[in-house]
Amino acid sequence: MEAKKIRSTFIEFFQSKQHQYVPSSPIVVKNDPTLMFTNAGMNQFKDAFLGNEIAKYSRVANSQKCLRVSGKHNDLEEVGVDTYHHTMFEMLGNWSFGDYFKKEAIEWAWELLTEVYQLPKDRLYVSVFQGDEGDKLEKDVEAAELWSKIVPEDRIILGSKKDNFWEMGDTGPCGPCSEIHVDLRSEAEIAKVPGRDLVNNDHPQVIEIWNLVFMQFNRLADGSLKELPAKHVDTGMGFERLVRAIQFKSSNYDTDLFTPFLDAIAKKSGKTYGLEEQTDIAFRVIVDHIRAISFTIADGQIPSNNKAGYVIRRILRRAVRYGYTFLGLQQPFLFELAPLIATYFGDIFPEVRQQQEFIAKVIMEEEASFLRTLDHGLKMLESIKSELNSKNEKVITGKTAFELYDTFGFPLDLTSLIARENGFSVDEKGFAEEMEKQKTRSRAASEQETGDWVLVNEDTGVEFIGYDFTEAYSQIIKHRTITDKKGDRYQLVLDRTPFYAESGGQAGDTGWLISDSEKIRVIDTKKENDLIVHFVEKLPAHPEVRFSSEVDREKRQLTMNNHSATHLLQSALKEVLGDHIQQRGSLVNENLLRFDFSHFGKMSEDEIAKVEEIVNAKVRENIELQEQRNVPIEEAKKMGATALFGEKYGDFVRVITFQKDFSVELCGGTHVPFTSQIGLFKITSEGSISAGVRRIEAITAKAAANYLREQENLVKEIQDLLKNPKDVKKAIESLLQERNDLRKEIETLHLEKSSGVKNELLKQFIEKDGINTLIAQVELPNAESLKKLAYELKNEVANAFVILAAKIEDKPQVAVILEDALVVSKGLNAGQIVRELAKEIQGGGGGQPFFATAGGKDLAGLEKVVAKAKEMFL
Ligand code: ATP
Ligand code: MG
Repeated sequence: MEAKKIRSTFIEFFQSKQHQYVPSSPIVVKNDPTLMFTNAGMNQFKDAFLGNEIAKYSRVANSQKCLRVSGKHNDLEEVGVDTYHHTMFEMLGNWSFGDYFKKEAIEWAWELLTEVYQLPKDRLYVSVFQGDEGDKLEKDVEAAELWSKIVPEDRIILGSKKDNFWEMGDTGPCGPCSEIHVDLRSEAEIAKVPGRDLVNNDHPQVIEIWNLVFMQFNRLADGSLKELPAKHVDTGMGFERLVRAIQFKSSNYDTDLFTPFLDAIAKKSGKTYGLEEQTDIAFRVIVDHIRAISFTIADGQIPSNNKAGYVIRRILRRAVRYGYTFLGLQQPFLFELAPLIATYFGDIFPEVRQQQEFIAKVIMEEEASFLRTLDHGLKMLESIKSELNSKNEKVITGKTAFELYDTFGFPLDLTSLIARENGFSVDEKGFAEEMEKQKTRSRAASEQETGDWVLVNEDTGVEFIGYDFTEAYSQIIKHRTITDKKGDRYQLVLDRTPFYAESGGQAGDTGWLISDSEKIRVIDTKKENDLIVHFVEKLPAHPEVRFSSEVDREKRQLTMNNHSATHLLQSALKEVLGDHIQQRGSLVNENLLRFDFSHFGKMSEDEIAKVEEIVNAKVRENIELQEQRNVPIEEAKKMGATALFGEKYGDFVRVITFQKDFSVELCGGTHVPFTSQIGLFKITSEGSISAGVRRIEAITAKAAANYLREQENLVKEIQDLLKNPKDVKKAIESLLQERNDLRKEIETLHLEKSSGVKNELLKQFIEKDGINTLIAQVELPNAESLKKLAYELKNEVANAFVILAAKIEDKPQVAVILEDALVVSKGLNAGQIVRELAKEIQGGGGGQPFFATAGGKDLAGLEKVVAKAKEMFL
């Protein structure tokens, strides 16, 4: 019977028993934090078993795509090595949700296997849960009795909790199970050892094919078991194993599920399956993995650098690596199997047919990229091995293994495998430690996904030629994509580059990569350890061709001006402020230079001017750059070269000198050949950034000239405003003089005015009960004059009680003043009175009992203040 027929027969059999066929759920799990991939048929019914959801049908049958490569079920390492574990496999299942139970499940399973599929009864064994003391569970007598009606007693095996009690998790639905095993050995072998002794013993020919789970209990958090009100059946049968049993093969791979794929690989590689263990494993790995890869890609999971995507990438790489090493497949080959997947699985799983081309393309790109990585990594591993051999060592350190993984994308399992094949071992614990360290580092760095490097051309090392050239022919060695919140960014590495990578405070170069067909903007250049990484606007469509790499020369020139000026500045500062000056940081780009240095106290204008003067004098001197590369560090120190604190220098350094006795620094930056190129140096600001650290910002060349032009324009505009006097400074001085004179004049006028007012007011006092009362509205220039007026009135009139409602600069104010004696003798209180009156001008105020003022908002209220006061006191 053909595989396809076997599958459809299963479904039809259970349909005839009133089961509803449901399609497989996706192999990639989206909304379950505990599960990346579907690993059992019951996953999609989890909510029904947990009682979170009422099952749509009480009887269901299906074939579920499963993947067991991570988490609780991880068979990856066995796959290909043995003949009956797959990464991706189909799990056939029949389900009862609170409907039938053990009797039907057992009888139908037996009927299907022995009558429909006609498996020989004398090759089958069944197991029954034997009970468990800890859980106070009896043997599953019910199942045992049901089995003994159809199976001879010596074919029923009692199993422990480990094999025959199924649990979904620490808590939740669980129950005893009965497994069905098949013995596929030859008669001769069976004669030697009876099959029942080999059940559940990892024998490759005596294998479990079907597990019938009787969901009967609920495991509570305290570990105790409670009978479920509704009992369920959950069965899972490995389709590939079933096919093998029916077709009576000694390996899953000898069934028609896999033979077309094996044939394709045999044709492609020119090797024969079944001759040699190592090549056979490679064959099996490939034909197994292509299924897992295709099905997961079809379900939306693209190989990537993290989580589920990374699991898929690893499966793919495992297949590529086996093909590469054992079958000589050094060009992409897996993608060519995609059409076969469509042919053989498209009927039952239409998604693999619909997306056939897409699947092939994704696989091809992934393969091509990994093959380049692999080639490189294998070469590395070769040299690592010969180095170890020369030292008579047998262990590849965790650090080395990690470097292979981290830098060359060479997975640990591959390193270990190759090591084992060559009699080496890998310090896997050390590897795990390195991994953990890196995770901590990158977590701290930022939330971003860094794609693997994609090798484009052979990595022959990276050469920086930017000290001598701003243009070169380059080849892209590799590229990668970085994804963060802002989206995708692209990076690439060139074999030789004129682009200066940001370091030593100097900004990275920008520019272009130009090939015959494209022009790509380089937006930045940075270092990653020793790697020079170019940030590009997009990845080239044809990265493998030769590019002309061109640095933005104007930007580089401006940056160089600022960098060389920084060196001159540092020396000038030492001359002016003293030798205690130490660089604390610097930034040099095309717009400005910023220099932080240790110094206490603000620089005076004079000091700033002096520093500027020295630097500009050195610029005019047109000093020639002296650049020395590869100077032994000791020698450089003897030259008196300035070095930075906290900077790591190698044994050989680069020394930049502008006049031996003026500026000698250890520096990796780019500099002007002659100082005159700087043109002009101008400090734009000087200030403090932290205790003891000052910051100078300055500009050079065009920027400095522009700055000065702006200043000059400003003076011109001022001249214009002043109607072009001969001497602007004198003109402004006389303007200021004029202003002061006018101010004085106004003050005198105010005084005169208020004394006029006072004289007028003195006539308006009214005598009542021995109090001379004045209530009046006045207009005054300021609050001070109101106070002054009030005091003068009080002083000039005996027993005075004055209330003034004043308009001052368009705002209302009230002042109340009275003879001190009246506070006691008449019980008058200026503070209280002013508060009461201020209500009329929507204001408030206060003061002492003999003098108080209030301000307000409502100017029109002043009249009411007067009226109210008259009402109260006259
Ligand atoms: P095994 O002991 O063979 O690993 P299992 O106990 O892990 O099997 P179950 O979890 O009970 O298996 O899964 C139900 C059925 O699925 C098994 O009886 C078997 O036929 C099949 N199966 C399990 N794992 C795989 C696999 N990796 N590849 C193919 N079929 C499998
Ligand atoms: Mg298993």
